[in-house]
Amino acid sequence: MATPYTQVLPLPRHQHYPKPNPISKTVFTDRYFENHPLILLIDKCHSINQLKQVHARMLRVGLFFDPFSASKLIEASALSHFSSLDYAHKVFDEIPQPNLFSWNALIRAYSSRQDPIQSLLIFVNMLCEGSEFPSKFTYPFVFKACAKMKAFGFGRGLHGMVVKKGRVGLDIFVLNSLIHFYADCGCLDAAYLVFENMQIRDVVSWNTMILGFAEGGYEDEALKLFYKMEEENVRPNDVTMMAVLSACGKKFDLELGRWAHAFIQRNGIRESVILDNAVLDMYMKCGSIEDAERLFDEMGEKDIVSWTTMLVGYARTGDFDAARRVLNSMPSQDIAAWNALISAYEQSGKPKEALTVFNELQVIKKAKPDEVTLVCTLSACAQLGAIDLGGWIHVYIKKQGIKLNCHLTTALIDMYSKCGDVEKALDVFHSVNVRDVFVWSAMIAGLAMHGRGKEAISLFLKMHDHKVKPNSVTLTNVLCACSHSGLVEEGQAIFNQMVTVYGVVPGLKHYACLVDILGRAGELEEAVKLIRNMAVTPGPSVWGALLGACRLHGNLEIAEQACNHLVELEPENHGAYVLLSNIYAKSGKWDEVSMLRKRMRECGLKKEPGCSSIEVNGTVHEFLVGDNTHPRSQKIYAKLDEIAARLKSVGYVSNKSQILQLVEEEDMQEQALNLHSEKLAMAFGLISVAPSQPIRIVKNLRVCGDCHEVAKLLSKLYDREILLRDRYRFHHFKEGNCSCKDYW
Ligand code: ZN
Ligand code: ZN
Repeated sequence: MATPYTQVLPLPRHQHYPKPNPISKTVFTDRYFENHPLILLIDKCHSINQLKQVHARMLRVGLFFDPFSASKLIEASALSHFSSLDYAHKVFDEIPQPNLFSWNALIRAYSSRQDPIQSLLIFVNMLCEGSEFPSKFTYPFVFKACAKMKAFGFGRGLHGMVVKKGRVGLDIFVLNSLIHFYADCGCLDAAYLVFENMQIRDVVSWNTMILGFAEGGYEDEALKLFYKMEEENVRPNDVTMMAVLSACGKKFDLELGRWAHAFIQRNGIRESVILDNAVLDMYMKCGSIEDAERLFDEMGEKDIVSWTTMLVGYARTGDFDAARRVLNSMPSQDIAAWNALISAYEQSGKPKEALTVFNELQVIKKAKPDEVTLVCTLSACAQLGAIDLGGWIHVYIKKQGIKLNCHLTTALIDMYSKCGDVEKALDVFHSVNVRDVFVWSAMIAGLAMHGRGKEAISLFLKMHDHKVKPNSVTLTNVLCACSHSGLVEEGQAIFNQMVTVYGVVPGLKHYACLVDILGRAGELEEAVKLIRNMAVTPGPSVWGALLGACRLHGNLEIAEQACNHLVELEPENHGAYVLLSNIYAKSGKWDEVSMLRKRMRECGLKKEPGCSSIEVNGTVHEFLVGDNTHPRSQKIYAKLDEIAARLKSVGYVSNKSQILQLVEEEDMQEQALNLHSEKLAMAFGLISVAPSQPIRIVKNLRVCGDCHEVAKLLSKLYDREILLRDRYRFHHFKEGNCSCKDYW
């Protein structure tokens, strides 16, 4: 069962930074220097250039070698609003004997960076030099860096060090940062232990712990702690309330959320646009548009987050018109709002609309897309198989000199793989130096869906050499690769090493992959045994994999069991009935077939309509079954007739049992079989795609047996490459064969 890697992008968080003072260009004159003590002048600097002047002067008069004066210089260059950390570090390296203050300033400055490894390195240097000892102003920032880097081992070791320090180990500032560190690393038990053992706690301690619970998925514990805080007469502040609101939103508890909102108003909690936004977000998450609208209208100050929260909230309920209205009525249309709309469309399975918005942004608004825009749009291209536009974005990235970070790299690899060009995906993969676990996972998924299992495994093994630890998604992808390529032993071996070697506990998706691997190889009994002994309750994906395997091997008994389990869990699962009925049809059990159809009609099961899309010259064309709405419909149907004639001339007849099989797309009539969406798309591809180019089609359901057969023949008769991506994998048709080797 292919579970291609998809990336969920967090919406950008916007913060409002204080506006920097207008940078004064004054050059300090000699007289100025004479009249002001140098050390006080440091505080008066407004730019790095002024600071450099003071630095030069300090060197001249020898003041630089005074540790205290030097530390003031470090502080200003590392922590002021015009700071330059590179400069600060250079200055630091020149100081013969940096004092504690200088060490701390640098450690602190680096801890706020995206990648705070320097913070830890400087800390280690400090320990090695041994002239100064870390203080209560050192540890909090080292813990902060550890939290950001999820450097659990390092932080825990440091905790041990702090405990032995006596007074420092009791400092509230240090302990609060320790709670934050443990909570951020997902060790809520350890965080709570620190919290509980604190002799004195301030509101920050409570907030950190409550937020830790709320963000870590323990909403009830967060709320319990909030009540306890009240009992102990600690006054909650705006940060506490934000954590409480976040917990309410995650629990979808509207009543409690309303109560929290009233609590804020009743208790005179400092209100701010940030807190208002948190209330707004809670209402939207709890599904109360009315409450959100009321608050939004009352809000005095609104920022980009307020607007995008409304926009995303509407989009989530499927009301895209309202979302659009929000965008149009914004005072200034920030790129973040556009991104929110594009991402909302993309994540609601409306990639075509997402591309329309992107186009509008580009052509009409002439706005410059940022990284988030590009990632969302690439992901929409991937869904649609729109390789022209996806490739255009790749060129755009290169032309604009945008550096490929891991997000963009992942999105490009994903787009090229899903659009059928795995070679291009590999090019992107090999062109970058920095690859995180998501980049590796996306590439493995790409190879998997193209049936290049051996390469996927070898890439997976290479991760170790590059010191990237595979995660749960990586393992799903590599197991998926094994199943698509029939690599039974390899798949089993990797599965068995999951806990011991990779430290990942198998979840439903991994079990589903292994069932699929065993099932495809005909080891149905083995697969059933695995399901019986699973550590987690088997979900629909597991039974679905078993049912799919039964279809390949025509095992009726197990198929019936699997189907029963499947519809018990998912009564609306149309695909399950279709698969079972196909298995009946294959063994000629027509009575069962018609009984099943009757049952489906009685249950009023709705089918997801089959839809195939094809991109030609940058435009995406969509076809439904029997569609005749396309402007070139006449030409398409003429081509279909020609195809039928040519197929007949080579002796092809739609397989009788195929026709009588239920296909996911509808009907038992041969007519309908000929008008499947992917056939319409193929015919359109043949008349509109240049012969040198492959025809790329994306279908939302599993490709049916007849269409698969026809695609193989067409690739030979017309000497064309056809790339068809269905819900589960890629089919690459060439010279009469398919890359799936008829295994899907
Ligand atoms: Zn079909
Ligand atoms: Zn195939």
